[in-house]
Amino acid sequence: MSSDLVIVYHRQPYEEVEEHGKTVFRENKSPNGIVPTLKSFFGRVDHGAWIAWKLAEDVKNPGFEQRIEMNDVYGKYTVSRLPLTSEQVREFYHVTSKEAFWPILHAFKERYNYDPVDWQNFRDVNRAFAEAAAAEAALGAVVWVHDYNLWLVPGYLRQMRPDLRIAFYHHTPFPSADMFNVLPWRREIIESLLAADIVGFHIPRYAANFVSVARSLLDVTEVARAKVPDQWINEGTGLTERSVTERLEHNGREVQVSVAPVGVDVDFIEERAASKETARLGADIAAELGDARLILSVGRTDYTKGGVEQLQSFERILEAHPDLHGKLRLMHVSVSANRGMEVYAAVQDEIEQTAGRINGRFGKLGWQPVSLMSNAVPFDQLIAYYQQAAVAWITPLADGMNLVCKEFIASRTDGKGVLVLSEFAGAAVQLSAAVLTNPYSHRSMDHAILAALEMSDTDVRARMEALREAVARDDIGAWGDWHRIAFEDVAHAPAPRDQASRLSA
Ligand code: UDP
Repeated sequence: MSSDLVIVYHRQPYEEVEEHGKTVFRENKSPNGIVPTLKSFFGRVDHGAWIAWKLAEDVKNPGFEQRIEMNDVYGKYTVSRLPLTSEQVREFYHVTSKEAFWPILHAFKERYNYDPVDWQNFRDVNRAFAEAAAAEAALGAVVWVHDYNLWLVPGYLRQMRPDLRIAFYHHTPFPSADMFNVLPWRREIIESLLAADIVGFHIPRYAANFVSVARSLLDVTEVARAKVPDQWINEGTGLTERSVTERLEHNGREVQVSVAPVGVDVDFIEERAASKETARLGADIAAELGDARLILSVGRTDYTKGGVEQLQSFERILEAHPDLHGKLRLMHVSVSANRGMEVYAAVQDEIEQTAGRINGRFGKLGWQPVSLMSNAVPFDQLIAYYQQAAVAWITPLADGMNLVCKEFIASRTDGKGVLVLSEFAGAAVQLSAAVLTNPYSHRSMDHAILAALEMSDTDVRARMEALREAVARDDIGAWGDWHRIAFEDVAHAPAPRDQASRLSA
């Protein structure tokens, strides 16, 4: 059965596990991720499909069913699993996406590694995703493609199926032209994105950067521009834009440039936060802390997350303020992702060394300043830690959005807790009431964490109230609603071929 909505996302929408020799499909462990929101879209269409990849030794005989029909709480949908070899995955994901694109997206030019990229493999894999999507899509269907590792999919799809409405969403930052144009494949990527009907970003700055990159490479014209809503204007971050392009015209077609920040499921988090289990976990954590105040830092092990820089700030604070010894505990959760990659192993080593040095220099019997955790903390436990933290210290050097800080806020139903947030996390444009800091500045980092620790109760509560309002307003439901409306609009717009002739007439 063909589908009215096809979601193209590199991961499968569930966890596939073997139980007693049988394959069982389970909901993803992280219930708060984006996957449930994407799947909820299937409830609104006659039939949906999801395209993902699955490892196969031989892509011609993958040894698994390529198309499976799911019927779960989200409705009925097809999952089309594209068989890829481990070599293809390594090349397309770990090399091209993570070694070449990722550093450029986050503006770390010096980490960019071009030499090992097999561009033809990247094209082949993207074309295969496009073919799989084209095979599932009904006439005029919406195909929603996610993230930079599938940058070439819109272009291929448009060639294969001019009837489709194509939306593309970036979950990462999008850099300026000076940075993006380091990529030798820049033109091919932008031409592909401009073949979509909607190109989406978290915040206005990334949309503005995309437009400036497109202008630098191709003939594009701005069709509509809009003022950025007040709630996304924050003087404290360098990421703020005041107006943004809404529509572009290229080659006789209009492309919508959209801004919709991903949020968290506030209702879900609040429900968990109120559970007996969370209260029990919280009581254990409080007992363990004793009189010490908890500073909580949570993120993936990645140079973009600024883990080492943050630990160095903590070291400086302890050095300069002996009065704080014994009174603070930093829980630094840095989860190793992409374990096989050298660049992440090096970051992990440096984090471990720095944390070890701090504990060696300042620790005493009964007080260890840093607790380092490299394994993922289950979400329920994380909520309990969020609730017990005096300060959430979230200081990435660059981050597309950052959901951890929003989860922390949603968990604080008690109205307490201070958020210290990097001004270079996308979330900073929405969260003016956070204590914002520049992670590239020692003075700013040290000052922000000290200010958070010294803040009056009245100030803490006033800021948390404002933060909670902001997180509730732009929650995951709002992100979903925004896309629902955009897809309806685009479905009623003239078909892409008619549009081309209308504009050139
Ligand atoms: N997370 C988790 N356990 C951990 C660390 C992180 O469940 O120990 C989850 C966290 O709750 C959040 C996600 O991982 O939902 C991280 O998302 P974020 O946008 O902050 O960063 P990303 O890793 O996507 O860059």
